[in-house]
Amino acid sequence: MKKIQMVDLGGQYQEIKEQVNASISQILETSSYINGPEVHAFQKDLEEYLEVKHVIPCANGTDALQIAMMGLGLKPGDEVITADFTFAATVEVIALLQLTPVLVDVEPDTFNIDISAVERAITSKTKAIVPVHLFGQCANMDAIMELAEKNDLYVIEDNAQAIGAKYLSGKGDKKMAGTIGHVGATSFFPSKNLGCYGDGGAIFTNDDALAHTIRGIVNHGMYERYHHDVVGVNSRLDSIQAAVLRAKLPKLNDYCDARRTAARKYNEALRNEESIILPKTVNQCEGICDTCDCHVFHQYTLRITSGKRNGLVKFLNENDIPCGIYYPIPLHKQKAYLDDRYKEVDFPVTNQLVEEVISLPMHTELDDEQIAFITGKVIEFMNA
Ligand SMILES: *Cc1c(COP(=O)(O)O)cnc(C)c1O
Repeated sequence: MKKIQMVDLGGQYQEIKEQVNASISQILETSSYINGPEVHAFQKDLEEYLEVKHVIPCANGTDALQIAMMGLGLKPGDEVITADFTFAATVEVIALLQLTPVLVDVEPDTFNIDISAVERAITSKTKAIVPVHLFGQCANMDAIMELAEKNDLYVIEDNAQAIGAKYLSGKGDKKMAGTIGHVGATSFFPSKNLGCYGDGGAIFTNDDALAHTIRGIVNHGMYERYHHDVVGVNSRLDSIQAAVLRAKLPKLNDYCDARRTAARKYNEALRNEESIILPKTVNQCEGICDTCDCHVFHQYTLRITSGKRNGLVKFLNENDIPCGIYYPIPLHKQKAYLDDRYKEVDFPVTNQLVEEVISLPMHTELDDEQIAFITGKVIEFMNA
């Protein structure tokens, strides 16, 4: 059996090696490291894939979130509602811009932001909601867009974990994750579902005026060379990363399928375990099927309800099976984001999830032997 890895970037590289190496050599030969033709071509490719009018590449996913908020003109003191159970980047940029983060609880089955908690958190100062499409599946965008419309709020989708996922709205139309709200942000960090070989990110929007504003912000606030109209940042995707992403984008749907297949096999093997709650897929299907495209399984995350989670982590590691705890501490308990407004009774789900979640190895190169070994060890420990 091949050594089991949490993510296997090497295996993926072997398949696109020729194309990637050729494009990178070309960039080295022409020295067009920044804003080269590869960056523009990738932007166009991604616009087409996402069926969105504007993609603005940038340096990483955290920048993408920050720039989206700057582009919307959010001002210090504006309240921005986001999920308590996610990676810190989301709340970090809210705080950096001196906006007021308002963390709310999530749903126990999808791990995504809880709509009733969002509704309760809306005040006269609320300006935006940032749903995070956690682990590869969209938050309840129908409900979020409805709340946003009713309360005149912006919606910024943190799509760092769900690129390639689709969302089926109640009206029956399917849209790509990240293109439903006013603006979407994503990351091309190597381990993301569409990852480059360094840092990268992008912002998406269908709003022409917002796209124009954002194109200036990523480039030092310049709309005309050496005329700085607004305070901007320097945030660029470089040509080499764009070349890697161009090679991978045509394979993204296959990558998503491979992840879904692995998730289905995990589910099949683990579905009779009493103390394990399988990840829930909403929208298109009841369970997980091969054709369902609403979940792209950035992570395959179980809940272990018997208090054995930490023991399981230890047991898997002893058997050379890597696993992860995403996330071990709720954001409202992180020192940097403590706030008197938060009451523990408002976060029952996040407080429970941090004790129960475990993410198993998930990538495009997992084979049946590895999945059988991993699930066998999980079952062995749970029944010991
Ligand atoms: C990875 C990630 C980010 C940040 O992306 P970087 O490219 O690492 O800056 C933001 N939000 C979520 C949910 C992420 O998973």
